[in-house]
Amino acid sequence: MKVAQRIADARAAIAQWRRTGLQIGCVPTMGALHDGHWSLIEQCVAETDACVVTVFVNPLQFGPEEDFERYPRAWDDDLAGCAERGVRLVFHPGAEEMYERGECTRVHVAGLSETLCGKYRPGHFDGVCTVVCKLFNIVEPDVAYFGEKDYQQLVVIRRIVEDLNMPVSVVGLPTIREPDGLAMSSRNDYLTTEARRQACVMHASLAAAAGRVAAGERDARSIEREIHANLEKGGAESIDYVSVVDPDTLQAVETIAGPARICLAAWFGGARLIDNVAVDGSGGAG
Ligand code: AMP
Repeated sequence: MKVAQRIADARAAIAQWRRTGLQIGCVPTMGALHDGHWSLIEQCVAETDACVVTVFVNPLQFGPEEDFERYPRAWDDDLAGCAERGVRLVFHPGAEEMYERGECTRVHVAGLSETLCGKYRPGHFDGVCTVVCKLFNIVEPDVAYFGEKDYQQLVVIRRIVEDLNMPVSVVGLPTIREPDGLAMSSRNDYLTTEARRQACVMHASLAAAAGRVAAGERDARSIEREIHANLEKGGAESIDYVSVVDPDTLQAVETIAGPARICLAAWFGGARLIDNVAVDGSGGAG
């Protein structure tokens, strides 16, 4: 397995593989890799000839009051796990390498980036979109893998690729969870035992809501109200949003008449966590 910290070194290794006709896969991450990341990486290794994992805690996607400094870093374990799984290259640039000349260019996806988390984290998706475009231009992957855990991010990235005619297929993979349902996240490291116990109410209330939709509930506001109440009862310190949205446009829906996504962001023990679930109101009550 190769490790590159320089863009030129990553490009050189990948160019050699591409010349021999290998298909290049890419899994962009911020490191502190857990089973959610490993599921993407294992799929990439299985489906492509050369899996490139990028590990970069991107300062551009953190707000001034956010957790950039304390974001978990676990480089040695990340590297060992990638080597074990057959990753061909880990690209691990520093911020000075990625933003050598500062950063005056931003990639902005109007609408999709401004709803849900975009309302509460201004500039966040511009930071994500900009770094993902840079990584795609450096790695030039044929296929790139993202988790549905960050559902809005997945939709936004699919849209950039479409709008900018980028020759990469984007694969979205299901959320990997702890045994009690909590979505795996590097930010779960921040949780105290008590907050960790409380945080599983997110998945429990989403699963209950999905059950209600399967049983025939179609009123999005009623679903949102119930999740909100469950989160409060379950110990959420505050709730940024609970929203039933169209799975492609991310616009709020009134009536769940077809496929929809229920997304939420809430705070537990000082950590901002997100989760979501797919529902489908197109069938009869099941
Ligand atoms: P991050 O390191 O948080 O930027 O995440 C890197 C990639 O891993 C993103 O595509 C995330 O959506 C994905 N990911 C993070 N957590 C999970 C999870 N629990 N299940 C599946 N994918 C995940």
